[in-house]
Amino acid sequence: MEMIYIVGLPHCGSTIYGMKLAHAYKGKALMLGEIDYVFNEDFGNNKYADEDTNMICSCNKNMKECSFWGDYFKQKFNSKDEKYNWVIERAKKKGYSIIINTHKFSLPLKTWKKHIKIKEVFYLYRDQMGWAMSSYNAELRSGKKPKNIIVHFILWGILNFLREQSLRRIIKDYKVVYINKKIILPEQKIEHHIAVSNRMKYSI
Ligand SMILES: [Zn+2]
Repeated sequence: MEMIYIVGLPHCGSTIYGMKLAHAYKGKALMLGEIDYVFNEDFGNNKYADEDTNMICSCNKNMKECSFWGDYFKQKFNSKDEKYNWVIERAKKKGYSIIINTHKFSLPLKTWKKHIKIKEVFYLYRDQMGWAMSSYNAELRSGKKPKNIIVHFILWGILNFLREQSLRRIIKDYKVVYINKKIILPEQKIEHHIAVSNRMKYSI
């Protein structure tokens, strides 16, 4: 089992890029999305703020009833290591040899490296104006008073710099990918992908 790990800012196009990669590996790669959020102690219980939308798997079932994640919520884990291993074993049992993780923060990569061979790491740069617009719209949707679009435009540079630096401290060997509107979403079902953002309203 190997992992493809995607790092970048929120709204960088990681879901679309992860789907494209899964498509390229023709059934060998399982695109699980932001897996690490599932390990959050609050995830899956009623305390979690966005229970209704976050618990929906891309197979359209609630994660507690889905054929991939369902058992996860019935297990008693004694350590975080056991959780990592559970995901790897489950993917293996389902016949996959690659897991795609679109967590976007680089820190969990440090732990995954101890459990699974890292096949490739990608750092995604969304085009600056597209990213500023998406971030502005996300703030609007969340009901917050959005920051001026120019502020988002400037933040793109600062945040990308910091995030890429943090990735470099964990792994030196990664590929930079530029994402723009020309990237086409493949016609393909993604099986048990989870996204912690409100997926129903989320569009990049
Ligand atoms: Zn599912």
